[in-house]
Amino acid sequence: MKLKDKVAIVTGGSKGIGWGVATVFAQQGAKVSVVARDAKAGEQTAEEIRDKGGEAIFIPCDISNEEEVKAMVATTIDAFGQIDILVNNAGVGVYKSVLDTTSEEWDRCLAIDLKGAFLCSKYTIPHMQAIGKGVIINMSSVHSHATVNSVAPYAASKGGMTALTRNMAIDYGPTIRVNAIAPGWVWTPLIENLFNSYDNPVHQRELVEKRQVMKRLGTPEDIGNAAAFLASDEASFITGTQLFVDGGLTSVLEESW
Ligand code: NAP
Repeated sequence: MKLKDKVAIVTGGSKGIGWGVATVFAQQGAKVSVVARDAKAGEQTAEEIRDKGGEAIFIPCDISNEEEVKAMVATTIDAFGQIDILVNNAGVGVYKSVLDTTSEEWDRCLAIDLKGAFLCSKYTIPHMQAIGKGVIINMSSVHSHATVNSVAPYAASKGGMTALTRNMAIDYGPTIRVNAIAPGWVWTPLIENLFNSYDNPVHQRELVEKRQVMKRLGTPEDIGNAAAFLASDEASFITGTQLFVDGGLTSVLEESW
């Protein structure tokens, strides 16, 4: 087991990619704090992990709220005694151009997708320093690298996530390793809702699948497996970088002739 007896916080661990990370981490022996706002989905994920013999608790927390983040970190310490791994995964999508985005929408996107990672890191890092080790994984996106029309707040927050990754790696290395994962298209409630906004969601999914080098969408477990590797001692010389888990998406310059 790659993560035996490690303690991990996974924000947005109730659904989608975070669910995949929490599930794979538990399979690899980690004790997991599943963090999200909706208690029903969060409790369900923690219970699912425990039913399969893993260790997990659900902690309700809005990661854009500093007091709730402080309490979430304290609850993890009370439950498990230490924190070895933080996965800053929770995020929302605001897919609009600058002219179409209200300042409230901009603030909400940046508050969850970027400031949330800052807050969770700020209150977790001292606990990692106390035990002399730690790993942080930030869930960025292919949009941090190259993007499409009308995703301005989201792309800006993900670019910030990648930059924050490098900075924290420098500031807190060698004690703490910090890396980002940039997923491509991954089948989650976020993407299901996006496809559902089209007249023919099934056709939309097929169009996207066809454009991928791997001819499929990623699964939450694909990202969970990459995160487990980065969190493990096998990645002990990897810090300050970003791993693309995108089925080849960012290797494509234009459609093949
Ligand atoms: P998702 O299916 O919508 O799940 C999002 C998770 O984040 C849920 O558990 C949600 O639970 C939690 N969350 C949202 N806002 C929160 C807040 N303020 N405080 C605490 N938890 C919050 O999204 P996903 O597709 O799994 O995406 C996860 C991450 O991967 C995001 O950062 C996203 O940008 C990134 N990503 C996704 C894809 C993709 O194709 N799916 C691609 C690239 C990057 P509650 O709503 O209950 O709080």
